[in-house]
Formats: sequence, C-alpha cells, structure tokens
Amino acid sequence: MARIDQVLSHPISGAVPATFTIIPSQPGDMRTSITPDAGLCLNCREELFDPINRRYRYGFTNCTNCGPRFSIIEAAPYDRCNTSMRRFPLCDTCEIEYQSTGDRRFHAQPTACAECGPSLWLEVSDNNNVYARDDSAISDAQARLKGGEILAVKGLGGFHLACNALDKNAITRLRKIKQRASKPFAVMCRDLDVAGKYCELSSSEADLLTSSAAPIVLLTLKPEQLLPTAIAPGLNRLGVMLPYTPLHTLLMECFDTPIVMTSGNRHSAPQVTDNTQARKLFSDEVDAFLMHDRDITNRVDDSLVQLIDGTPQVLRLARGYAPMATPLPRGFDANHPQLLAFGGDNKNAFAIAKAGTVVLSQHIGQLGTVESLSDFEKNVQLYLKLFEVLPAKLVSDSHPAYRSSQIAAAMADALDIPMDKVGHHHAHAAACMLEHRLESTHPPVLALIQDGIGAAVDGSLWGCEVLYCDYRQHQRLASVKPAALLGGDKAATEPWRNLLARLHETYGPHDAWPAMYQKRLQDKPLDVLIAAKEAGVNTPLCSSAGRLFDAVAAVVDICSERQSYEGEAAMKLQAAAEIWLANNLTPLPYSMNIVRASDQLLLVDPIPIWDNIAADVIAGAHSGEIAAKFHLGWATVWCRIVERLAANLPERPAIVLSGGAFQNRLLASMLSKDLQLAGFHVLQQSLTPAGDGGLALGQIAISLARSDREPDTQQE
Ligand SMILES: [Zn+2]
Ligand SMILES: [Zn+2]
Repeated sequence: MARIDQVLSHPISGAVPATFTIIPSQPGDMRTSITPDAGLCLNCREELFDPINRRYRYGFTNCTNCGPRFSIIEAAPYDRCNTSMRRFPLCDTCEIEYQSTGDRRFHAQPTACAECGPSLWLEVSDNNNVYARDDSAISDAQARLKGGEILAVKGLGGFHLACNALDKNAITRLRKIKQRASKPFAVMCRDLDVAGKYCELSSSEADLLTSSAAPIVLLTLKPEQLLPTAIAPGLNRLGVMLPYTPLHTLLMECFDTPIVMTSGNRHSAPQVTDNTQARKLFSDEVDAFLMHDRDITNRVDDSLVQLIDGTPQVLRLARGYAPMATPLPRGFDANHPQLLAFGGDNKNAFAIAKAGTVVLSQHIGQLGTVESLSDFEKNVQLYLKLFEVLPAKLVSDSHPAYRSSQIAAAMADALDIPMDKVGHHHAHAAACMLEHRLESTHPPVLALIQDGIGAAVDGSLWGCEVLYCDYRQHQRLASVKPAALLGGDKAATEPWRNLLARLHETYGPHDAWPAMYQKRLQDKPLDVLIAAKEAGVNTPLCSSAGRLFDAVAAVVDICSERQSYEGEAAMKLQAAAEIWLANNLTPLPYSMNIVRASDQLLLVDPIPIWDNIAADVIAGAHSGEIAAKFHLGWATVWCRIVERLAANLPERPAIVLSGGAFQNRLLASMLSKDLQLAGFHVLQQSLTPAGDGGLALGQIAISLARSDREPDTQQE
C-alpha cells in the first residue's frame, strides 16, 4: 500500500558503510497521514477460504495490507483506540500477531478474529429480530437475493441496497425505494470472469478492478444485452465492482451473475452508515438487513473510475482513494498558511493544505438538503481535527448563491480570518495543473474548461471557456455563443428548453422554424417562454457546453422532457454516439462557426448544426449518427479555436482540458487526440475528478499562489 511521493538524496560524509540496516524508528514528531481504506488482499483472501486457518470464513479479517482505515478513524493518530475497533479488545492470539514485527498483522490497527472481533448477522424487516448469525447469515442472505428479495447490506463505508441484477421486478422495486427513475445502478461481480461475461474487459480495466482501491469501474456492456436495460437505461456502460471486503467476498461466493449494489440512501440524502438509521429508513422497504457491529465512523461512498484510451480517470473520489494527500508542486512556499477550501455545491469535495501537502476529501455529494449540509460540516470538522489544521484563510467558489460559499463566509466571520474567492473555471484549470505538478511559476497554459454553469469573478455565468492562465491570473479568450436559460434553473433539468433557446436564436419566431422542429416542440409554451426571454425575466444568458448537448439530445429525442439525474441527456447522447461509431464508419462532423465578438472574444457559434440536423432527421438518419456527428464537430471546432489562439501567443502553451464535460469519454478522447496531432502537450486529470469534485484542489493552488506573490508586490 506504499506510495512514493518524492525521492530525496543526501550526500553522506566519511567512508561508505559496508552494510545496510533498517533500525526501529525513534519516537518523535511524527507526521502520519490518514490512509484510505483498502480492499481485501490476496493473503487474507486465501486465509478466508482455508479451512484450517483460524480466520476461515471470518467476515472481518484484515492485515497491514488491507482493510478499513479512514472509514473507522475518529481521531489522530491512527491507533486502534482512536477507531471504532476500540470496543473489541484483542484476544491473546491476535495480540501476539499485533506485537510481532515479522507478522503480516504487526500493528494492523483493525485486526480481529471471530473470537475477539466484530460479528455479522441477518435480521428480517418485520421485527428486526436476529434471524441468523455469521455463516448462516451469509447463506440466508444469498438465498434471499436468489429469491428476488432486496437486502440492505452494511459494508465498509456505508450501507448498500442489493438485489439480483437479472431480476426485473426487484430492480423496479429498488428504483421505487431509491426514488430513482433512471439513474444507472452499479453492480458487484464475484470475479473478473463474471464481469467479463457481461462487459468488455481490457487488462487495464481488470487491473483497476483488482487494485487495492477496488473502485467501481465503468465498463462497456457487451452488445448482446444480457442484463435488463432497467439497470442502466439508455446507456452503453455499466458500473462494476468486485467484492472488496471479506464480507462481500463471502456473500458473492455463490453468484455467477451480477448483484446490484447501489448506495443505501434515499434520493439525494447521504449514504446511510448507522444500523439504527438504516432500520428506520428501510424497514418498510427492504426484506432483510445483513448487518455487523463495527461502526462506520466516516461515510465513504464507492469510488467511480473509467478508462480513457487506457488511462484511468477518477469520476468520484471516495473509498480507496480518499483522503488523497499530495505534496504541493515545486515553487510553492513550504511555509504557506494553513488553508481550507470549500469546493462547490455539486459533487462537493473540500480540501485542506498544511505543511506543503494538500489533502482532498472524499466525495461528499450534492449540498442542498439539511442532511447533506450537516454531513458536509461534520466532515470539515473531522478533517480539521484529524490533520490538526487551524485554517489561516478560507477559500470558496465565487458563486454567491453556493451554500458552500455561504458556509465559508460565516466561518471566516466566526474565526475572524480572511477569505479568498476563486472563479469556478479558473479553479478547474488550476486543479488539473496541480495534479500534473506544474510549478508555481509555470508559464501560462491554454485551459479549455467545459462545464455546466459556473460563476466568473465578475458574477457572470460561464460554461465552456478557454482561459489563458497560470495559478495566479486568468484571461478569457474564447467561449460558446451564449444562449438563454429559459426558466432559469429549469433549463438544467428540461433539455427541450435549451433546444427552444437555440432554435429561437437561429431562426427567430417559431413559425419560421423548419417544420421538423415545430413538430418536435409543438406542445410546449413557446410564446410564453420567448416573451419572458424578451422581457429578460428569469432567462439569464449562459455559455454552457452541457446545455448545448442537452439541446441536441432533445432534438433526437434521446432525453427531451426531463433529466432525472444530472448529466442524463449528455450521457445518453454520448452512449448513442459511441454505439454508432463502434458499428459504422466515422461520419463527417457537423461544422460550426467561429466568430469574433465585439470584445475580441472568439466564440463558437453552433448555428449551422440546426439546418444539418433537420436535414439528417428528414433523411431518416439514426439518432446515433446525429449524436456522433455532433461530438465530432464539437471536438473539431475546439481544436481549431485552440490552434488559432496558440498562434497568437508568444510561446506554444500546454493545453489543459478540465470541467465536468470531460467526463464524457468520447469527447475527452477525440479532443485530446486532435490536439496531440496538432502538436500540443495536453494535460487531463486522471487521479482527481475533472468535474466539480476536483474544484477544491484548484482553489487551494490559486489561493496559495496569490498569497506567495503578495510579498513581491509589496517590494515593487
Ligand atoms: Zn490482508
Ligand atoms: Zn482475536
């Protein structure tokens, strides 16, 4: 589980020693980091199925190479007495292993056995009485899953709701419980063989699945459609994970088909971690609970990763990866003030900086409900305590309406410390630069940030922008021709509104539209919305990439009425394009215009696509072909923009690609290949999310770089 952060060399004086010895550490000022949880290691797995091993079929076996870490810690340092394992005193045999330097369990804080450690049981929802224990709890749970029941399973970082992935009725019931209309469910497969039956599986994907982080990996579904489409409606990929705890390993042993394992929560609330709370929420909904008595101190959701051209891209940084500590790149002042950065409101994660290290939190999620806000504040306090951080400055997004920004402002007031505000898109760029360890004085890059909607420092709403920036400053050089968000926030959930905005801007009043479009939107209140737009009521302009993708998804009727989860329309459009491109010759891209605005800003104007799409629809083109042509056109036009901008710069800049839209694997792959062919050095995030989950890192980097410069400014 070791990771090399840096290699330092020191010359030694005198004669070269003849031998090399590792001596015990001396007690002293120790700076230990808090490590992420790790999936079951191969040694522990072998012991789990070895009938003469004393941990045979024990659901909580672990060692120094695996097991719970962050999910059980309450305070620093990481010792058993500071974890939820405190209430399980070691038996004599475990104690001997724990004290033996040569043992795999030497100082393994959560070590345990059936005699001294946590135990497992199954209770039924009718009365919450214990129905079966230990191994019979496992076999009973297996029988229930086979029989179509839904189980709440307590895992490592929270509860899952589980059911047989081949059982349509169970899936329909699960969707009702989760109040989740069509957002895809992840599944757990016993091993790579089972995963490979349903999904395409490359060797890098297999490596990721079996890594100690054991994330959910997005795999391409086999075209045979062997699973009910209700698991991931309209998508060509499935989130798959392997069992990562001994408990899951035992549970999955008898299944040669996938089991749905979706986080145990209601709607947008955080994943449930506590037994009592789980009973309260799910007793009326699920059939049984597979539970244990090791408390989950810190909720950590499953991490989510995809591979883009063989390189992993973390979409959700949580179990197995978080807390993620990385040293600051060269050039940042080692004596910097301690910082706390709040991230954003969507896919929230926050970060702290102390003594040359920046730590990104696990995925906290959407900040909106009372529950999610209190969960956020609890986690912030925990990190400050665990990492012994006393922030000297707070950093937030520049969006005044973000709850995270408001909490930051209140905290800055209460602590009487200064606060920095960072533009949303600049933070995305800096997060990518930080991950690539660009030095603090690195020359400016061209950052293409494609995102939903984010606030610029002047309060305007940006979406898809090219910034010329370093860690300190940014200048906006290009954008998309903005369109009105008809109905404000409603435009983010109802794709047809964005189609209406683009059509009105292209063709004017709706009686002048091509007939195909008139028909497509015939039942919508077109006049009301256009009147509102003309009166400037709740129709802000925004240069969002996401909303343009929504508009195209609405034309081809992939997702027109309503998105039931964030990014649904764009994800389905991407899936349609990927399926088309996998089975057909690459079509010619739709062309888009590049225009220069009065303020010298270069703008992508998608106007030509609407005539082309109308012609293709009338000619009977497949929606996948239209989706593919749009993706190709979009990548092409941004590559041209970058080339034009770079030609006018004194030095050829590195190109940063970041923002939520680059979680679209097709777009990220096409654009980075185009740019590399054009001779650019392209930087994309891999270890940290390109979406808003990575924002806090950029906020830290920008704030530190700005404060580094302050003494210089004074000298000048
Ligand atoms: Zn182990
Ligand atoms: Zn023991």
